[in-house]
Amino acid sequence: MRTKPILANLTPYVPGKTIEEVKQSYGLERIVKLASNENPFGFSDYVKSGLQQAVEGLEIYPDGYARELRTTLSKTLSVNEKQLIFGNGSDEVVQIICRTFLEPGSNTVMATPTFPQYRHNALIEGAEVREVPLDQGFHNLSEMLKQIDEHTRVVWICNPNNPTGTMINQQAFESFMEQCPDNVLVVMDEAYVEYVSSSDFPDTLSALSSYNNLLITRTFSKAYGLAALRIGYGIASESIISSLEPSREPFNTSSLAQKAALLALEDQSFIEETYKSTVETKQELQEFCENNGLTYYPSETNFMLVHLPISGDEMTEYLLRNGFIVRSGEALGIPNSIRLTIGKQEHMEEIMDAMGEKLAESRQV
Ligand SMILES: *Cc1c(COP(=O)(O)O)cnc(C)c1O
Repeated sequence: MRTKPILANLTPYVPGKTIEEVKQSYGLERIVKLASNENPFGFSDYVKSGLQQAVEGLEIYPDGYARELRTTLSKTLSVNEKQLIFGNGSDEVVQIICRTFLEPGSNTVMATPTFPQYRHNALIEGAEVREVPLDQGFHNLSEMLKQIDEHTRVVWICNPNNPTGTMINQQAFESFMEQCPDNVLVVMDEAYVEYVSSSDFPDTLSALSSYNNLLITRTFSKAYGLAALRIGYGIASESIISSLEPSREPFNTSSLAQKAALLALEDQSFIEETYKSTVETKQELQEFCENNGLTYYPSETNFMLVHLPISGDEMTEYLLRNGFIVRSGEALGIPNSIRLTIGKQEHMEEIMDAMGEKLAESRQV
């Protein structure tokens, strides 16, 4: 049978090893997963208790418009209800954007390395993908602007960027929006917004009233700790949202996910505690790096990309044998580095010890 030719060049997403796989192949009792930037504190107890109720009524299709969640979220964000679109994870919002705007003959501009789903979905739609290398781990916005031409439909800015954790600031964002043609959609992927400490993070929500070509994506998968339920969203002008709607499956988010997201919004204290712990523990990891002569990108997220004097694969393998799953930089396009999620403080102390041992060992050889 004949598939779309582009699919021959695409590989399915290779997830990090699961906890069970690692336990079995390394004969370990306990595994700490620091590979996918999940919340080490799980999710709010308030969500857990409230969710029992949503288990009733699973025979009924979910509300395809996610009314309850939509109303609450629109109030939280101070946007109109029609400015929101929900997805089966923000991954699906990315897919919906690509289905809507991209086709053969069009192109799309993004950084590299960045979140891989922009490229993947754009290629499936037959668009040309223009990738602009990061500059010291940061988006090179002036080069990205240069790549825009009359066939460009979408520009992706992952802010803060995955896998580097770096952010572009308010001034850089405004200057980019001013120079970007207004018929090109600018997607700001803010999957880690809850973790940002900088007071100079762009106020993209306020910018929605000035730019009709701006779309922001956010998710309940990271700080809210609901990755398994798959729910994320996009925020944009009413006109962009209504152009996206036909590309969305009618019942794309489940009733459980909608309910959990709604409850999660009601417990902001969970987010505050998550934030506080992450910032403190990230500080400790930074000090460890400095004491060990390791450089890293400044991170506004719950993960850090740490450069190593050895290959990322070698460190990843060593850490695996010691019960820690991290992401090797080789797999992310940044050789001799690892990306690790900021976990619970006690686990981070252990992983720093293990990294220290491996570094000492490699210095002796
Ligand atoms: C994790 C992540 C997402 C995807 O989140 P889902 O809502 O779980 O699909 C999107 N963008 C970035 C940059 C991410 O790291």
